Amino acid sequence: MESKMSELFGSLVFDESTMEERLAKDTFQELQKTMKDGRSLNMKIANAVANAMKDWAVEHGATHYTHWFQPMTGVTAEKHDGFINLKSDGKVIMEFSGKELIRGEPDASSFPNGGLRATFEARGYTAWDPTSYAFIKNGVLCIPTAFCSYSGHALDKKTPLLRSMEAINKQAMRILKLFGNTDVRHVNTTVGPEQEYFLVDKRYYEERKDLIYTGRTLFGAPCPKGQELEDHYFGTIKSRVQAFMNELNEELWKLGVLAKTEHNEVAPAQHELAPIFSTTNIATDHNQLTMELIQRIAKKHDMVALLHEKPFEYINGSGKHNNWSLSTDTGVNLLEPGETPYENAQFLLFLCAVIKGVDEHQDLLRLSVATAGNDHRLGANEAPPAIISVFLGDELTEILEAIRDDIAYTNKEKELMRIGAHVLPKFPKDNTDRNRTSPFAFTGNKFEFRMPGSSSSIAGCNFVLNTVVADELKQFADILEKAPDFDSALNALIKGVIREHDRIIFNGNGYDDAWVKEAQKRGLLNLRTTPDALPYFIKPENIELFARHKVLNEEEMYSRYEIMMEEYTKILSIEAKTMVNMAHKEILPAASSYARTLAETCAMTMQVAGTENAYERETVKEISKLVDQAYRAMNYLKDVVDRADASEDFEARAFAYRDEVIGAMQALREPCDQLETMTDEKAWPFPTYGKLLFGIS
Ligand code: ADP
Ligand code: MG
Repeated sequence: MESKMSELFGSLVFDESTMEERLAKDTFQELQKTMKDGRSLNMKIANAVANAMKDWAVEHGATHYTHWFQPMTGVTAEKHDGFINLKSDGKVIMEFSGKELIRGEPDASSFPNGGLRATFEARGYTAWDPTSYAFIKNGVLCIPTAFCSYSGHALDKKTPLLRSMEAINKQAMRILKLFGNTDVRHVNTTVGPEQEYFLVDKRYYEERKDLIYTGRTLFGAPCPKGQELEDHYFGTIKSRVQAFMNELNEELWKLGVLAKTEHNEVAPAQHELAPIFSTTNIATDHNQLTMELIQRIAKKHDMVALLHEKPFEYINGSGKHNNWSLSTDTGVNLLEPGETPYENAQFLLFLCAVIKGVDEHQDLLRLSVATAGNDHRLGANEAPPAIISVFLGDELTEILEAIRDDIAYTNKEKELMRIGAHVLPKFPKDNTDRNRTSPFAFTGNKFEFRMPGSSSSIAGCNFVLNTVVADELKQFADILEKAPDFDSALNALIKGVIREHDRIIFNGNGYDDAWVKEAQKRGLLNLRTTPDALPYFIKPENIELFARHKVLNEEEMYSRYEIMMEEYTKILSIEAKTMVNMAHKEILPAASSYARTLAETCAMTMQVAGTENAYERETVKEISKLVDQAYRAMNYLKDVVDRADASEDFEARAFAYRDEVIGAMQALREPCDQLETMTDEKAWPFPTYGKLLFGIS
C-alpha cells in the first residue's frame, strides 16, 4: 500500500521531483529561483521548461494544454489548445513553447469585470504562476495562471492573493529580523480548508429544478427526521458514499492534493473532507480542484454533490473552515507558542497582529465571506454569527489579561506559568480548548476562520486576512525598528494592543442571543446581510489599505465591489424566477388536480353511500385556500422581481432584492410547503426532503 501510495501521489503533477528528473541541472536551478524568490524567467529557460512539460504530459496521455485560471465567477476557467502543429512537410508534431507556457490570451469578454474592461478591448491575458505546479486533468495539461487586463488590472481571484502573500512576507520578515532571525528567507501564509458538502441521489436531483438551477431547495416541507438524533455526525459511512470517497481520494492524490480526513457531518447526507495544509496559494488551487472533483466523481457514482451553503431549510448548512497560519521557510510556525520567553514574545507579537487586525477590520473579514448563499448560514443557529470575534481559550486569555493588567500570571494546577526572566511568560503549547461557535478561533497553532461558505473560493478571505495582518505587522515594525530599547518597546506594544483591542476577544457561546446584545455594547459590527457588508469594501480607509500593500488599487476595488453586489442580485433573481416556474408549472397544477380528485371522490361516495367524507371535504377546502394563497404570493413575487429589476442602479437593485424579494420568496414557499404535507405523495411533482436526505442507501 505504501509503495502504491507513493507511486500514486502527485503522479499527475509536474512537481519538483519531476522537474529535477526531466530538466537540465542549470534549467532546474533557474526555475527554482523563479519559484522561490519570484525572479522572472528568461525565454531560453521557459522554452526548455515548456518542452519538458509537454513531453511529460504527452507521456501521460495529454493532447491539450490550458491556462487554468480563477475569474471572478469563483469557479475555474479553462480553454484547451492542442499541442498539435503542422510542419511544412505536412507532418504533424506536438509542440509547446515557452511563450505559450508563460502567457495566454483567452478571449475574455464574457467574464465579470465590473466595468474594468470594455468589451471592445476584450482580451485579457493569463500569466503563469510558477509557485503552483502544473498538473494533468482529464487529459489536459493545466497551467495555473493569474488573469489580468491589458492595463494590468487583476480580473481574477488569484492575483490579489499572490500580491497579499508578498505583502505579508515583506512585513513579517521585518519583524523576524528584529527578533534576530537571520536564517529565514521567506514567510508564507498556510491554509488547510475543511470542505463540507451534501450528497443526494442523482435520480432525485434531476427531478428538482431548484437544485438544478440554484443548487439549493427553494421548496420542501421538513421530513419527520432531521439531525436531532445527532446520529449522522462521524457515523459509519455508507458503502456507496465510501466508494465515492475512495475514488475521490485517489484522484486528488494523483493531483498532489493532500486529502486526509473524511467523515460524515452533523446533517443527514452531509460530509466533510479536510486536506493537510499548504501555502495559501496552493491551498486555494487545490480547494478549487477538490470542489470540481467532488462534483465530477459523485456523478460517476450516480450521486450529485451540493456545495451550496444552505441546500436545505431546517438542517445545518455547509461551510469551509479556513485554518490559517504563518510559517517560515525554515519550518517555524509563527503562531505556535515557543519554548523560551523570547520565542513566546515573538509569538505574542504575531498573535497581537492578528487580534488587532481582526478588530480593526471586522468589516473586511465579514464582507470577504458575504454571498447570497452564505447569508442563510451566518447568524442562523448553526454557523458563527455575522459578528466577528476572536476565541482564544481561557488560558491564553488569562495570560493576555495578566499582561494587560501588569500582574503575574500563575497557574496553580500546572505551575508552568510564570512571568519569566523576560517581560513575557512561558506557556504550554497544547491549547486543546475547543469552541465551535466562534467565527475566528485560535486552535493552538493557527486560527480557524469558520465563516467562509462551502462554495466560495478561499482566495477572497485569505487575501483580506493576509493584507490585514500585513498592515498590523507593518505598523509594529515601523515602531520597533525605531525604538531605542527593543524589549521595553515590545512590551509596551503588546500591552497596548491588548488594552485597546480586548473587546474583540469572546470565549463564550456565539450562538447565544445574549452575545448579540453584548457585542453591540462592545461596539462590534453586526453586518447581517451581504448588501450591509459589501459597501464597506470601498470605504476610503479600505481603499488606502489595499493600495498601501499593492494588493488592489482603487479601480480594482470598485470593480470587485460591483461584481459582488451584482452577483448577489443575480443569484436571488434566478432563485425567485425558479420559484415562480416551479409554483406555476408544477406545484399549483399538482395540488389543484389532487383537490379535484378528492372532490370527485367526495361527490361520488356521497351519492353511493351517503357518507360524511370529512377527509376529502376538509382537505379540498384547505388545499383550495392554500392554492389561492400560493397563487397570489406567486404573482406578488413576479411583481417585486420586476420592480427590483427596473432599478438602473446596481446598489439599489441589491437592496431591493434583499428587502422585497426575499420576503416575497418566503411568502410563496410557506403555502407551497403546506400543500406538500397534505397532497398524495405520489401526486407531488418532485422528490421530498425525505428522499433527498435519506435517499442514499
Ligand atoms: P480539527 O480542527 O478538526 O481539530 P486539525 O486541527 O487537525 O483538525 O486540522 C484542521 C485543518 O487545519 C487541517 O486541514 C490541517 O491541515 C489544518 N492545519 C493544521 N496546522 C495548520 C497550519 N499551521 N496552518 C494552516 N492550517 C493548518
Ligand atoms: Mg477544524
